[in-house]
Amino acid sequence: RRPVSAGCADVPAPADARATERSGPVVRTERGQREVFCGLTGIIWMHRKIQDAFFLIVGSRTCAHLMQSAAGVMIFAEPRFATAIIEERDLAGLADANEELDACVERLLARRPDIKMLFLVGSCPSEVIKLDLSRASQRLSARFLPDVRVLSYSGSGIETTFTQGEDACLASLVPSLPRAEPAARELLVVGALADVVEDQFARIFEALGIPARFLPMRRANALPAVGEGTCLLLAQPFLADTARALEDRGAQPLCAPFPLGIEGTTAWLKAAADAFDVDPDLFARVVAPMEARGRAAVARDRARLEGKRIFFFPDSQLEVPIARFLHRELGMELVEIGTPYLHARHMAEELALLPDGVAIVEGQHVDRQLDRCRAAAPDITVCGLGLANPLEAEGLATKWSIELLFTPIHGYDQAADLSGLFVRPLLRRAKLKV
Ligand code: SF4
Repeated sequence: RRPVSAGCADVPAPADARATERSGPVVRTERGQREVFCGLTGIIWMHRKIQDAFFLIVGSRTCAHLMQSAAGVMIFAEPRFATAIIEERDLAGLADANEELDACVERLLARRPDIKMLFLVGSCPSEVIKLDLSRASQRLSARFLPDVRVLSYSGSGIETTFTQGEDACLASLVPSLPRAEPAARELLVVGALADVVEDQFARIFEALGIPARFLPMRRANALPAVGEGTCLLLAQPFLADTARALEDRGAQPLCAPFPLGIEGTTAWLKAAADAFDVDPDLFARVVAPMEARGRAAVARDRARLEGKRIFFFPDSQLEVPIARFLHRELGMELVEIGTPYLHARHMAEELALLPDGVAIVEGQHVDRQLDRCRAAAPDITVCGLGLANPLEAEGLATKWSIELLFTPIHGYDQAADLSGLFVRPLLRRAKLKV
């Protein structure tokens, strides 16, 4: 691997660490059958974030069932996502799918004037019939702007993991963002955060005197401007396409660990503080009380997790930062960290914090990984829903990786909620044994 320089100058790629006194993690790739949800799943948290957006999946009944069962209770609410079902006559080419889609969007927008942004979300079936949703979104935008902006992205499961749905969604927003003046220095935090977490970070940035905006925004008409003066700080590790699109618009990436756990949150905030020349004393005064409160809360879980062995199947792309938190702040032993993709530049700061020799496996060969997991018999296994029940039946305690996206886990006040997610499976098993 080459040293990584673009944007995060002089941050070495993980393998380069082997040439220094630290040997660093051992990274290898594995290819084979994968067990992951598709990118449609991202709609479940994204629709809560942009409060006047609507996600229209152009897909099959399978897609509709996935969304309904994954999102559960939507039947009781005025939903902000739905599936336009591609019927057999569409698949057979007997109907004009574009005409049907236009009519469907027209009916939806007539019935729901509260919708200000509409995402057409592609699926495996829409890709199979080669329905060009990007052209459809341009056609529909021309018709419905300025009231409704229509965008499109793919949530297809063929080549994605479930968090890539958020990446594709945010990347589709980038061309619509206004252009900022080059002299306008502003921080752009990118990645969907729970509102409570976003509010906390906004208060911290305000206290530090850093002008900050967030992407995704909460309202469709509050698009943040981006330009050469924009400093880009990723809040989630799975946003490679969005980051690339923003950097192409001139945004300057900041390199930092992700804001998970106390250590990660402080380092993440510090990257922003350094970029905006915040006085170190002010920084220490602002974060110290929150660090202390967070550490005290996390310490309560350390006694339960210290020395426990954890195995990660590749699923959410959050595996590396969460493993770093569990190892360094809770004393857990890392058996294997599987991750669907390892972005060398975005992960460089995280990898530097992992212990020497820890095994990171990028990609998946599910059978081999299951064999290694069974042989290691870890105390906790982090995996997707499809693997969790069989592994529980075999006697392994599991944690659903999708919960890491549904639960507010970023920042100081949520660090104990994050550690608590890993305590619960152990407590549950202890109680069941009783
Ligand atoms: Fe639909 Fe494809 Fe996802 Fe299945 S994997 S739910 S067909 S988009």
